Amino acid sequence: MDKILREGRERERLIQDFHPLESKVVVNPLQDGDMRFIIFGPPGAGKGTYASMLASKLKIAQISTGDIIRDEIKQNTDLGKKIIDFVNKGELVPDEIVIEILKEEINKPPSKKGFILDGYPRTIEQAKAVDKIEEIDAIIRLVVPEWVIIERLSSRRICKNCGAVYNIRYLKPKKEGVCDVCGGELYQREDDKPEVIKERLKVYQVQTQPLISYYSGKVPFVNIECESVDIPPETIVKDILQQLHKMDLTK
Ligand code: ADP
Repeated sequence: MDKILREGRERERLIQDFHPLESKVVVNPLQDGDMRFIIFGPPGAGKGTYASMLASKLKIAQISTGDIIRDEIKQNTDLGKKIIDFVNKGELVPDEIVIEILKEEINKPPSKKGFILDGYPRTIEQAKAVDKIEEIDAIIRLVVPEWVIIERLSSRRICKNCGAVYNIRYLKPKKEGVCDVCGGELYQREDDKPEVIKERLKVYQVQTQPLISYYSGKVPFVNIECESVDIPPETIVKDILQQLHKMDLTK
Protein backbone atom coordinates (compact mmCIF):
# COMPACT_ATOMS: atom_id res chain seq x y z
CA MET A 1 0.00 0.00 0.00
CA ASP A 2 2.67 2.51 1.05
CA LYS A 3 4.68 1.47 -2.00
CA ILE A 4 1.78 2.36 -4.25
CA LEU A 5 1.39 5.70 -2.49
CA ARG A 6 5.09 6.43 -2.81
CA GLU A 7 5.20 5.49 -6.48
CA GLY A 8 2.21 7.75 -7.06
CA ARG A 9 4.04 10.55 -5.36
CA GLU A 10 7.12 10.00 -7.46
CA ARG A 11 5.04 10.12 -10.60
CA GLU A 12 3.35 13.29 -9.46
CA ARG A 13 6.69 14.90 -8.71
CA LEU A 14 8.02 13.99 -12.15
CA ILE A 15 4.99 15.55 -13.78
CA GLN A 16 5.45 18.66 -11.63
CA ASP A 17 9.08 18.92 -12.68
CA PHE A 18 8.10 18.64 -16.28
CA HIS A 19 5.16 21.05 -16.22
CA PRO A 20 6.05 23.49 -13.47
CA LEU A 21 3.23 25.87 -14.33
CA GLU A 22 0.63 23.16 -13.93
CA SER A 23 1.91 21.96 -10.58
CA LYS A 24 0.07 22.46 -7.29
CA VAL A 25 0.43 25.89 -5.76
CA VAL A 26 1.51 24.65 -2.33
CA VAL A 27 5.20 23.95 -2.08
CA ASN A 28 6.06 20.50 -0.88
CA PRO A 29 9.50 20.69 0.60
CA LEU A 30 9.99 17.05 1.64
CA GLN A 31 11.75 14.35 -0.36
CA ASP A 32 10.17 11.09 -1.46
CA GLY A 33 12.05 9.02 1.09
CA ASP A 34 10.84 11.11 4.03
CA MET A 35 8.36 9.93 6.65
CA ARG A 36 4.97 11.55 7.15
CA PHE A 37 2.97 10.26 10.10
CA ILE A 38 -0.08 11.28 12.08
CA ILE A 39 -0.39 10.26 15.71
CA PHE A 40 -4.06 9.97 16.46
CA GLY A 41 -6.06 9.40 19.61
CA PRO A 42 -8.25 11.03 22.23
CA PRO A 43 -7.03 13.87 24.43
CA GLY A 44 -4.71 12.51 27.08
CA ALA A 45 -3.82 9.41 25.08
CA GLY A 46 -0.17 10.38 25.28
CA LYS A 47 0.16 11.70 21.72
CA GLY A 48 2.56 14.47 22.69
CA THR A 49 4.82 12.26 24.80
CA TYR A 50 5.09 9.51 22.19
CA ALA A 51 5.35 11.94 19.28
CA SER A 52 8.33 13.70 20.81
CA MET A 53 10.10 10.38 21.51
CA LEU A 54 9.36 9.10 18.00
CA ALA A 55 10.48 12.37 16.47
CA SER A 56 13.87 12.21 18.13
CA LYS A 57 14.36 8.50 17.35
CA LEU A 58 13.35 8.84 13.70
CA LYS A 59 14.94 12.28 13.25
CA ILE A 60 11.69 13.78 12.07
CA ALA A 61 9.94 16.98 13.14
CA GLN A 62 7.13 16.90 15.69
CA ILE A 63 4.38 19.28 14.65
CA SER A 64 2.06 19.79 17.59
CA THR A 65 -0.79 22.22 16.98
CA GLY A 66 -1.61 22.08 20.71
CA ASP A 67 1.92 23.26 21.61
CA ILE A 68 1.89 26.00 18.98
CA ILE A 69 -1.51 27.19 20.17
CA ARG A 70 -0.42 27.17 23.83
CA ASP A 71 2.68 29.11 22.89
CA GLU A 72 0.62 31.80 21.14
CA ILE A 73 -1.56 32.07 24.25
CA LYS A 74 1.43 32.21 26.59
CA GLN A 75 3.02 34.98 24.54
CA ASN A 76 -0.29 36.81 24.45
CA THR A 77 -0.07 37.42 20.68
CA ASP A 78 -3.07 38.70 18.68
CA LEU A 79 -3.71 35.13 17.61
CA GLY A 80 -3.36 33.92 21.21
CA LYS A 81 -6.01 36.41 22.36
CA LYS A 82 -8.37 35.24 19.64
CA ILE A 83 -8.13 31.55 20.55
CA ILE A 84 -7.69 31.41 24.33
CA ASP A 85 -11.41 31.07 25.07
CA PHE A 86 -11.85 28.08 22.77
CA VAL A 87 -8.95 26.26 24.37
CA ASN A 88 -9.92 27.00 27.96
CA LYS A 89 -13.46 25.78 27.31
CA GLY A 90 -12.18 22.55 25.76
CA GLU A 91 -13.51 23.46 22.31
CA LEU A 92 -11.62 23.25 19.04
CA VAL A 93 -9.93 26.31 17.61
CA PRO A 94 -11.71 27.16 14.31
CA ASP A 95 -10.48 25.20 11.29
CA GLU A 96 -9.37 28.21 9.24
CA ILE A 97 -6.96 29.28 11.99
CA VAL A 98 -5.51 25.82 12.66
CA ILE A 99 -5.16 25.04 8.96
CA GLU A 100 -3.10 28.22 8.50
CA ILE A 101 -0.88 27.26 11.43
CA LEU A 102 -0.35 23.81 9.96
CA LYS A 103 0.43 25.04 6.46
CA GLU A 104 3.02 27.40 7.79
CA GLU A 105 4.72 24.64 9.79
CA ILE A 106 4.63 22.03 7.04
CA ASN A 107 6.05 24.42 4.48
CA LYS A 108 9.03 25.45 6.57
CA PRO A 109 12.25 24.35 4.91
CA PRO A 110 12.85 20.83 6.21
CA SER A 111 15.74 20.25 8.57
CA LYS A 112 14.53 16.72 9.30
CA LYS A 113 13.59 13.52 7.49
CA GLY A 114 9.85 14.14 7.64
CA PHE A 115 7.26 14.88 10.31
CA ILE A 116 4.80 13.51 12.78
CA LEU A 117 1.58 15.47 13.22
CA ASP A 118 0.43 15.54 16.82
CA GLY A 119 -3.06 16.85 17.57
CA TYR A 120 -3.80 17.51 13.90
CA PRO A 121 -6.08 16.82 12.05
CA ARG A 122 -9.04 17.02 14.42
CA THR A 123 -11.79 17.56 11.86
CA ILE A 124 -12.50 16.28 8.34
CA GLU A 125 -11.85 19.79 6.98
CA GLN A 126 -8.38 19.77 8.55
CA ALA A 127 -7.67 16.34 7.06
CA LYS A 128 -8.71 17.54 3.62
CA ALA A 129 -6.37 20.52 3.96
CA VAL A 130 -3.39 18.30 4.72
CA ASP A 131 -4.33 15.94 1.88
CA LYS A 132 -3.79 18.81 -0.52
CA ILE A 133 -0.21 19.24 0.66
CA GLU A 134 1.14 15.84 1.63
CA GLU A 135 0.40 12.13 1.37
CA ILE A 136 0.42 10.55 4.80
CA ASP A 137 2.39 7.28 5.18
CA ALA A 138 0.68 5.99 8.33
CA ILE A 139 -1.73 6.80 11.11
CA ILE A 140 -0.46 5.76 14.50
CA ARG A 141 -3.73 5.21 16.32
CA LEU A 142 -3.77 5.12 20.09
CA VAL A 143 -6.73 3.17 21.43
CA VAL A 144 -7.34 4.19 25.04
CA PRO A 145 -10.31 3.50 27.31
CA GLU A 146 -12.09 6.55 28.69
CA TRP A 147 -11.25 5.83 32.34
CA VAL A 148 -7.53 5.84 31.50
CA ILE A 149 -7.89 9.21 29.80
CA ILE A 150 -9.68 10.81 32.73
CA GLU A 151 -7.18 9.35 35.18
CA ARG A 152 -4.24 10.60 33.11
CA LEU A 153 -5.50 14.08 32.32
CA SER A 154 -6.58 14.94 35.81
CA SER A 155 -3.15 14.12 37.21
CA ARG A 156 -1.09 15.57 34.34
CA ARG A 157 1.32 18.41 35.05
CA ILE A 158 3.38 20.44 32.57
CA CYS A 159 6.59 22.39 32.93
CA LYS A 160 5.89 26.12 32.57
CA ASN A 161 9.30 26.62 31.09
CA CYS A 162 10.08 23.76 28.67
CA GLY A 163 6.71 22.02 28.25
CA ALA A 164 7.89 18.60 29.53
CA VAL A 165 4.94 16.45 30.63
CA TYR A 166 4.63 14.66 33.98
CA ASN A 167 1.95 12.83 35.88
CA ILE A 168 1.72 13.24 39.62
CA ARG A 169 0.67 9.60 39.97
CA TYR A 170 2.31 7.66 37.18
CA LEU A 171 5.21 9.67 35.79
CA LYS A 172 6.36 11.68 38.78
CA PRO A 173 9.13 14.25 38.62
CA LYS A 174 12.09 13.52 40.91
CA LYS A 175 11.21 16.53 43.03
CA GLU A 176 7.55 17.45 43.54
CA GLY A 177 6.43 20.42 41.43
CA VAL A 178 9.81 20.81 39.70
CA CYS A 179 10.79 19.81 36.15
CA ASP A 180 13.54 17.14 35.92
CA VAL A 181 14.77 18.58 32.63
CA CYS A 182 15.10 22.29 33.32
CA GLY A 183 14.10 22.91 36.93
CA GLY A 184 11.01 24.88 35.81
CA GLU A 185 7.77 25.04 37.80
CA LEU A 186 5.07 22.45 37.01
CA TYR A 187 1.44 23.51 36.52
CA GLN A 188 -1.94 22.03 35.62
CA ARG A 189 -3.34 23.07 32.25
CA GLU A 190 -6.59 25.02 32.50
CA ASP A 191 -8.18 22.48 30.14
CA ASP A 192 -7.07 19.52 32.30
CA LYS A 193 -9.61 20.50 34.97
CA PRO A 194 -12.49 17.99 35.32
CA GLU A 195 -15.34 20.03 33.73
CA VAL A 196 -13.20 20.85 30.71
CA ILE A 197 -11.97 17.25 30.30
CA LYS A 198 -15.60 16.16 29.86
CA GLU A 199 -16.12 18.74 27.11
CA ARG A 200 -12.91 17.74 25.32
CA LEU A 201 -13.96 14.09 25.29
CA LYS A 202 -17.34 15.05 23.83
CA VAL A 203 -15.69 17.18 21.16
CA TYR A 204 -13.36 14.28 20.35
CA GLN A 205 -16.26 11.83 19.90
CA VAL A 206 -18.26 14.16 17.68
CA GLN A 207 -15.64 15.98 15.62
CA THR A 208 -12.45 13.92 15.64
CA GLN A 209 -13.44 10.26 15.88
CA PRO A 210 -15.06 10.36 12.37
CA LEU A 211 -11.55 10.77 10.95
CA ILE A 212 -11.01 7.05 11.50
CA SER A 213 -13.53 6.22 8.78
CA TYR A 214 -12.15 9.06 6.65
CA TYR A 215 -8.67 7.49 6.61
CA SER A 216 -9.71 3.80 6.62
CA GLY A 217 -8.63 2.13 3.41
CA LYS A 218 -6.66 5.21 2.35
CA VAL A 219 -3.74 5.18 4.78
CA PRO A 220 -2.23 2.26 6.74
CA PHE A 221 -3.02 2.20 10.45
CA VAL A 222 -0.70 1.20 13.26
CA ASN A 223 -3.06 0.39 16.15
CA ILE A 224 -1.68 0.63 19.65
CA GLU A 225 -3.77 -0.55 22.58
CA CYS A 226 -3.12 1.39 25.79
CA GLU A 227 -5.26 -0.51 28.26
CA SER A 228 -3.71 0.68 31.47
CA VAL A 229 -2.47 3.90 33.02
CA ASP A 230 0.99 2.83 33.99
CA ILE A 231 2.57 1.41 30.82
CA PRO A 232 5.94 3.18 30.52
CA PRO A 233 6.08 5.47 27.45
CA GLU A 234 9.24 3.66 26.26
CA THR A 235 7.26 0.40 25.97
CA ILE A 236 4.58 2.02 23.83
CA VAL A 237 7.14 3.76 21.62
CA LYS A 238 9.02 0.48 21.14
CA ASP A 239 5.78 -1.18 20.09
CA ILE A 240 5.01 1.64 17.62
CA LEU A 241 8.51 1.46 16.10
CA GLN A 242 8.33 -2.33 15.77
CA GLN A 243 5.04 -2.09 13.92
CA LEU A 244 6.29 0.70 11.67
CA HIS A 245 9.40 -1.36 10.81
CA LYS A 246 7.30 -4.44 10.11
CA MET A 247 5.15 -2.45 7.71
CA ASP A 248 8.31 -1.10 6.08
CA LEU A 249 7.32 2.45 6.95
CA THR A 250 10.54 3.69 8.55
CA LYS A 251 13.61 4.69 6.61
P1 ADP B 1 -4.92 17.10 23.96
O1 ADP B 1 -4.07 16.70 25.11
O2 ADP B 1 -6.33 17.39 24.31
O3 ADP B 1 -4.80 16.20 22.79
P2 ADP B 1 -3.64 19.38 22.63
O4 ADP B 1 -2.48 19.87 23.38
O5 ADP B 1 -3.38 18.62 21.37
O6 ADP B 1 -4.50 18.55 23.66
O7 ADP B 1 -4.64 20.59 22.31
C1 ADP B 1 -5.12 21.46 23.31
C2 ADP B 1 -6.22 22.34 22.75
O8 ADP B 1 -5.71 23.12 21.66
C3 ADP B 1 -7.43 21.59 22.17
O9 ADP B 1 -8.37 21.24 23.15
C4 ADP B 1 -7.95 22.65 21.19
O10 ADP B 1 -8.66 23.66 21.83
C5 ADP B 1 -6.68 23.25 20.62
N1 ADP B 1 -6.22 22.51 19.42
C6 ADP B 1 -5.06 21.83 19.28
N2 ADP B 1 -4.96 21.27 18.06
C7 ADP B 1 -6.09 21.63 17.41
C8 ADP B 1 -6.61 21.35 16.12
N3 ADP B 1 -5.94 20.59 15.23
N4 ADP B 1 -7.82 21.88 15.80
C9 ADP B 1 -8.50 22.64 16.65
N5 ADP B 1 -8.10 22.93 17.88
C10 ADP B 1 -6.90 22.43 18.27
